[in-house]
Amino acid sequence: AMRHLPYFCRGEVVKGFGRGSKELGIPTANFSEQVVESFPSDISTGIYYGWACVGNGDVHKMVLSIGWNPFYKNIKKSVETHIIHTFKEDFYGEILSIVITGYIRPEKNFDSLAALISAIQEDIEEAKRQLDLPEHLKLKEDNFFHQPEGKIVNNR
Ligand code: ADP
Ligand code: MG
Repeated sequence: AMRHLPYFCRGEVVKGFGRGSKELGIPTANFSEQVVESFPSDISTGIYYGWACVGNGDVHKMVLSIGWNPFYKNIKKSVETHIIHTFKEDFYGEILSIVITGYIRPEKNFDSLAALISAIQEDIEEAKRQLDLPEHLKLKEDNFFHQPEGKIVNNR
C-alpha cells in the first residue's frame, strides 16, 4: 500500500453517488472518473491520510478512501477525500489538490452505521496524529500546493 507514496494528485471535484456522507457529518469530495483512472492500477483500496487544498486555499489534513465504486458495479475505483476542516460552502467543480502520505487500513464492512462512523472517527484521529510527525508534516509545505491551479497533474 505504501509503494506509491507520497502520491500527488490534482483534479476536479464531482458529484458522488449520494451515499449520504454529508448526513453522517463526514462529507467526501469525489474525484472524477478520469482522475481515478490516472491512479496506479495496483494501488491498494483502503483508508489513507495526507494533505489537501481546494483551489488556492489553505492546506488541511485529510483522510482519503480508495474503494470500489458501486456506481460501476464495483469494477472501477472511487477516490474520496474528507478534508479535516469545516467549510462554509460546498466546492463542487473546484480543483482539489492532494498529497497522500500514509496508509491506515484496508476497506472493511461494518455491522452497523454506528460502527462505521466510529471507525471513521478513529481514522481521523490517527490521521491527525500521523500528520504531525515531521516526515508527513514537511509535505504540507510542498511546492505542489503553490503551483497554478487549473492544470491537471498526476504525480507532478
Ligand atoms: P457526494 O456524494 O456528492 O460526494 P457528499 O455527501 O460526500 O456528497 O459531500 C461531498 C461534498 O461536500 C464535496 O464535494 C464538497 O463540495 C462538500 N464538502 C464540504 N465540506 C467538506 C469537507 N470537509 N471535506 C470534503 N468535502 C466537503
Ligand atoms: Mg462523496
